Amino acid sequence: MNETLQKVADCLVRAGSTFRPDQKEAYRKAIASETNGQSCWVMRQVLDNALVAEKRLSPLCDDTGIPHFFLEVGKNRAVTGEMMAEIQAGIREGLRRLPGRPMAIKGDDGQRIDQSGGLDPDSGALLPAPFLVKPVDEDVIRLTVLMLGGGPAIRGITQRVFHKHSVPVVVEEIVARAKESVSKLGCSPCTLAIGIGRSQFEAAALMMEAMATGDYGIQSDFEKTITEKVNEAGIGALGLGGNHSVIATFAKVGPQRASGVRIVALRPCCCFEPRRASVEL
Ligand code: SF4
Repeated sequence: MNETLQKVADCLVRAGSTFRPDQKEAYRKAIASETNGQSCWVMRQVLDNALVAEKRLSPLCDDTGIPHFFLEVGKNRAVTGEMMAEIQAGIREGLRRLPGRPMAIKGDDGQRIDQSGGLDPDSGALLPAPFLVKPVDEDVIRLTVLMLGGGPAIRGITQRVFHKHSVPVVVEEIVARAKESVSKLGCSPCTLAIGIGRSQFEAAALMMEAMATGDYGIQSDFEKTITEKVNEAGIGALGLGGNHSVIATFAKVGPQRASGVRIVALRPCCCFEPRRASVEL
């Protein structure tokens, strides 16, 4: 089998089945400091489930997610059409191997909207979201696979904030939105992914980058403040109460427009997310 195809397929399976070391450590710390017994039990189940899934390379959740891709390209490296085709073939192979839940809806525009076109039984028929490509200073072509579940997509919000020349104003608005999203999601504790940009597209792209590169062990003051303020609501894992509704926040602040608004994309990544893995091609 082609080397790139194989690498992409392996990477997708890892993304859908494995917690990274910083993610496991974040859960261990949250379990050790959680005061609500029921929430503590839920977080132990989530971590135990992740350890079993990693051992068996089986999906972390029945909702295996929609594949999203973040491609970092060094200035002396080239991504060819042939490589893109190999990546697409690797995605199909990885989805079949995971296995991904069959989620591709067949049919024309209308049939795909109302689901009357039926479901393709092939896991590999699920098309990925458009790729996000970013130039980097390293001599590398690095692909990060993210498997995005449906719950956080339902509860995510992309909307403007009137900043009033104040970071705390923006933070308070994000916290208010996050509290509502996290309490309605159910599959918590969450990791908040946030992108702040000049348009809906840019904010969503920055939010994707935050999910692709965020590290539980490295939190900025901005990220820590949001996590702490959302946790003050006491929602807890599965909404059972406790001080760990949110384990961490991954935020990216992009270039900003000379205007009174900031566009904020917010995704309450669920208890298994961000499901991600990276590979160098
Ligand atoms: S939101 Fe996350 S934990 Fe809940 S069903 Fe979807 S993927 Fe699974």
